[in-house]
Amino acid sequence: MAHGTGVVLDARMLAHDPGRGHPERPERLRALLDHLGDARGFTRLGARAATDEEIALVHTPALIEHLEATAGRARVVLDPDTATSAGSWEAARLAAGAVLQLCEAVLAGEVANGFAAVRPPGHHAESNRAMGFCFVNNVAVAAAYLKRRGVRRVAVIDWDLHHGNGTQHVFECDPDVLYVSTHQYPFYPGTGAADEVGRGEGAGRTLNLPFPAGFGDAEFDRALDEVVVPILTRFAPEFVLVSAGFDADYRDPLGGLQVTPQGFARMAHRIASVANRTAAGRIVAVLEGGYDLDAIVEGVDATLAALADRPPPAPRSGDARNAERVLARVRAAQSPYWDI
Ligand SMILES: [Zn+2]
Repeated sequence: MAHGTGVVLDARMLAHDPGRGHPERPERLRALLDHLGDARGFTRLGARAATDEEIALVHTPALIEHLEATAGRARVVLDPDTATSAGSWEAARLAAGAVLQLCEAVLAGEVANGFAAVRPPGHHAESNRAMGFCFVNNVAVAAAYLKRRGVRRVAVIDWDLHHGNGTQHVFECDPDVLYVSTHQYPFYPGTGAADEVGRGEGAGRTLNLPFPAGFGDAEFDRALDEVVVPILTRFAPEFVLVSAGFDADYRDPLGGLQVTPQGFARMAHRIASVANRTAAGRIVAVLEGGYDLDAIVEGVDATLAALADRPPPAPRSGDARNAERVLARVRAAQSPYWDI
């Protein structure tokens, strides 16, 4: 039985610079490198660049060519929020490859689970389009890669403040990938309503929990206990990926949710418990958003504590009663597919 947590930390992903004043700045990763650089208690791994073939598991050749053409150029604007610098394409390939490398280490039993501190983030990237600070959908590429490696059912849990439109769209017709997202709603990017449940053979394999601004630890706890964990357990993933953004933290400058590091620890612990039961403990968490540096550092610490199976601390924010109406809508939307 594998033991220990692998953490990908690689300074080469500092090379992506989206422009002066942009919230998705290199200092986000710098803060984690400084905080975890000398830390003990986990296995440190470097990143490798994802190959074009691996990225093409999710993305179109046209998008890959378009992104490759930005390499070495000072600045290319891809959407109103998303621009490249000379090193962005290499950083994006390393971010995607870092997740694959960590998944390989978990599959090989070298580590039990892991966290990948990557940037640029990925969950807004569509198969044919960069958007929302994202170029390559790191977690979606990993899910597709795991399926190719013979993993039959993959769950993606996305607790970033924003809805992961890209990940949802890549897998919405796929019955073997469960996509679960908690997010502030309505908010950027506009998708993620409760009645978006997947399509065709994938109906019931997309679970959206659209939360109003103000929800905190207690509301997330209740949503996990009453909806997410029951569905996740019945889906019985063989591998769990977490899109771990920390912009749902109460300090985040972009968002309006009120999660504390204790709340992230509680979520991670519950998700890891399911992974222990159905997936031999195989869980890899991947940094997405999060724009307050203290919130990122404390959120990553909380996630690593949960991956090391330290008992979760008490919730610090929120009121579980507030979740009643949202969860009623989610249950109604999911009731054709799940007995919850
Ligand atoms: Zn986000």
